Amino acid sequence: MAVTPTLPMKTATPAPFSDIERLIDEAQASYAPRCEQTLVLAQQAVELARKAAYAEGEARALLWWAKSAFVLSGWRDAKPLVTRALKLAPEQTAGALRAQLQHVVAQCHVAAGHPALALQSWLQCLNGALQTESVATVVEACLGIGDLYVVHDDRQQAFYYHSLAHEFAQLLGDDDLCAKSSLFLASDLIKLKRLDIAKSVLLGTEQHLILPLRRDWLAEMCNYLGLIYSESGEFELARRYLDRAYEINLETGYLWDQTVTLLSLGRMTRKQGNDAEAENFLKRALDVVMRFGAANLIMQIHEELSKLYEARGDHARAVMHYIGFHDHYMQIAREGLATQATRSSARRLANLEIKLRLMSSELEVQQLRQQSQATSQQMKQLETAAYRDGLTGIYNRRTLDQRLPDLVKLAQGSGTPLAILVIDFDHFKLINDNFSHQTGDRVLQEGALLLQEGIRDADLLARYGGEEFALVLPGATLPVAVQVAERIRQRVANFDWDEIAPGLRVTVSIGCAQLRATDTIESLIALADQALYSAKRGGRNRVREAATA
Ligand code: GH3
Ligand code: MG
Ligand code: MG
Repeated sequence: MAVTPTLPMKTATPAPFSDIERLIDEAQASYAPRCEQTLVLAQQAVELARKAAYAEGEARALLWWAKSAFVLSGWRDAKPLVTRALKLAPEQTAGALRAQLQHVVAQCHVAAGHPALALQSWLQCLNGALQTESVATVVEACLGIGDLYVVHDDRQQAFYYHSLAHEFAQLLGDDDLCAKSSLFLASDLIKLKRLDIAKSVLLGTEQHLILPLRRDWLAEMCNYLGLIYSESGEFELARRYLDRAYEINLETGYLWDQTVTLLSLGRMTRKQGNDAEAENFLKRALDVVMRFGAANLIMQIHEELSKLYEARGDHARAVMHYIGFHDHYMQIAREGLATQATRSSARRLANLEIKLRLMSSELEVQQLRQQSQATSQQMKQLETAAYRDGLTGIYNRRTLDQRLPDLVKLAQGSGTPLAILVIDFDHFKLINDNFSHQTGDRVLQEGALLLQEGIRDADLLARYGGEEFALVLPGATLPVAVQVAERIRQRVANFDWDEIAPGLRVTVSIGCAQLRATDTIESLIALADQALYSAKRGGRNRVREAATA
């Protein structure tokens, strides 16, 4: 589960830096489950890297320090860290790292209420990520840009960027990014009133939520499902989801999420006509949001409270909250104008979009190629299962039945000789009984290897039945077949079977036959079988040839 992409072209790390690298890796790994730990580890890594004058390492460690600081204490702590990191990370060799840093810078701008600056940073981030083919960072940038449109209430555009992000996340096959982008998408779909699609996106998210690492995302999912059920009037179900979301929000301690859920609860209870409860939820939401300040949320809470008091006839309070709503609305609108003013950004964005599309199709081709490789591997496995014997790995009876007719036809048609050996292990039942069935199996496996030794490409060795094998020798006359058989008999008899089980002795009896002009498959095999029978009767561990009539 990659949270961020590993940097391509990572230069070989000099030995003294490997401790620092390890610390950074640990910091990164702990980010999703416990970013408190990331903070500590990343700080240690920064210190060590600075002492070692390892600039790129310091920059990478600063990235993780900044990311965890952003979550734990806000953008004011994170911003100077990324700024410092960007100064340290060389443009030529650390393009992917710089893109990741730009992403954090953009997040800081959003949190500080500067969407226009955020857009600039995400454009730089996207550019860098495309150049270094850092797909995960492309996803993050698209999610971020989509969110800028959310803030400006342009849900269509938001939806566009979020679905682009989702597409890339799926191409990348990253669970984390899939879950994250699904949540963003669901939020757009709810706003666009496409509730059924939102619901199916959300229910599909669950498979990517690797619990319990992503408690906050689970809460978000519950919150959205609560909204959807509330919208369709299924209040009981909605309440269950929202309560669950709030419970997790308290556990994780994220104030933003707590506010969002309280706002949802307030909206729903107001819709149900439960005014007192709604007022309580909304006031609590306002309390929480004031602790971190997010204009967009404050505006929405004021709007709800204003409507609530209006309906109750409490005009003084209604007006007070309306002013609150209006102030924050204006603040957001001003920022919106600031974004619209940067028209060059829009052009750059359009340019990058073409590159994004290209990269997306490249990834798709790559993925298709991987898939077809996977299928050809599967085909090979299927083929193996169909044509080979599971115990010994040599061909099975089915292959022999399929290929022997062709070999016979070819020999008879061209007048070249063909011989067949039927090889049967002696007293095999006793081997099973006196040792064990497993020992019997191992004898068959080892035996198959001995039979295989020295056979030519054109020869066909197959497991004919339980402890019986057939070896077809195209081009061989009876005397040649007898020689081959005799070598096999000796090889088996002389093998050191004690290795498999002390005291184990194994021999084979072999019947040989040469194909006659009038033979069918059946008559050929019957001929070899008769020779085998004669070998058994003659005392076993011997080779007999069929009478050539
Ligand atoms: P003979 O010398 O006359 O061939 O005696 P035999 O005991 O080898 O002949 P028989 O046909 O009576 O018994 C063959 C035994 O081989 C019976 C069966 O349990 C055993 N056998 C067949 N397939 C397998 C297998 O895959 N693994 C093991 N361990 N035993 C097998
Ligand atoms: Mg036998
Ligand atoms: Mg047998």
